[in-house]
Amino acid sequence: MRPSRRVTSLRRKFVRTPGSKTKKVFAKKKNKKPVCAECKKPLHGRKEGAKTKRRPERPYPELCSSCSRKKIIQKIKEKF
Ligand SMILES: [Zn+2]
Repeated sequence: MRPSRRVTSLRRKFVRTPGSKTKKVFAKKKNKKPVCAECKKPLHGRKEGAKTKRRPERPYPELCSSCSRKKIIQKIKEKF
């Protein structure tokens, strides 16, 4: 195996060639879709790509809108 292929960032995939031989092919791993940290639902409007586009610039960027709303209300209720 080529040293540059000996990395965990590449997925090993077995492909059958027309000569009915199986060949190992190295493919890039697919990025996981960002999910909410509490309810595990996929987050809307977040793309895997540039780092600056990954998270919104608001409190609780790792939560979805409904969970962050709950969290904010909870925090206010704790004050009183
Ligand atoms: Zn959520």
